[in-house]
Amino acid sequence: MVARVAWFVALGGLLGGYFMAAHEVSRALVGGFDASAGTVTIALIGAAVAGLPLVALLPIALMPGWWWSRRLPAIRAEHGQCPGCGYLTGRFPCPECGGQGRVPSQELFTRAGVMRFVILCAGCLVVGVVLAEWRIHRDEIAFLAEVNAQHAAGQTRLARPRAGWGSFASLRWDVAEGFSAPPPFEDPRIPGWRAAGRPASDRRN
Ligand SMILES: [Zn+2]
Repeated sequence: MVARVAWFVALGGLLGGYFMAAHEVSRALVGGFDASAGTVTIALIGAAVAGLPLVALLPIALMPGWWWSRRLPAIRAEHGQCPGCGYLTGRFPCPECGGQGRVPSQELFTRAGVMRFVILCAGCLVVGVVLAEWRIHRDEIAFLAEVNAQHAAGQTRLARPRAGWGSFASLRWDVAEGFSAPPPFEDPRIPGWRAAGRPASDRRN
């Protein structure tokens, strides 16, 4: 039982971390500084879609429960032991645990097991998204402080990569245009690159 709970917690940590990373990537792709609820929702859908391949983890997730509650009792029964407790007995109810000696079915994909996994994934998605939003918010607060410092020093624009998994996109500030966090594909990161028809003197950084 302790092993199964530990497995559940470890799996939850893994899934929570995955969804946190997925949401940070999704948010950076969508873009937006101090994002609205709509932007967060679109990014959340992206993170949820990124969770679909996790179905491949289902057999691994169900394995420990299958072993302890279905396979192990069957092995015990094959050796003449009580399926429930392993007591060597030929008669039931078992004098040790009172079990009736029934061996459960050996299927891996039970309805309860699959439901538990789906609920775990949904819970981890929520926790991951909340964690990601907290980290993004903290990063934007830090950027605000950096801008204040740069502004005080006479700078009129500032840009740097986002923190965390969204570091392929950037946070920007311009004294005329204010704060922005454009989607990465609209962001000229290649040195010397500029949109067609845009004069070289207009190039940022
Ligand atoms: Zn027993």
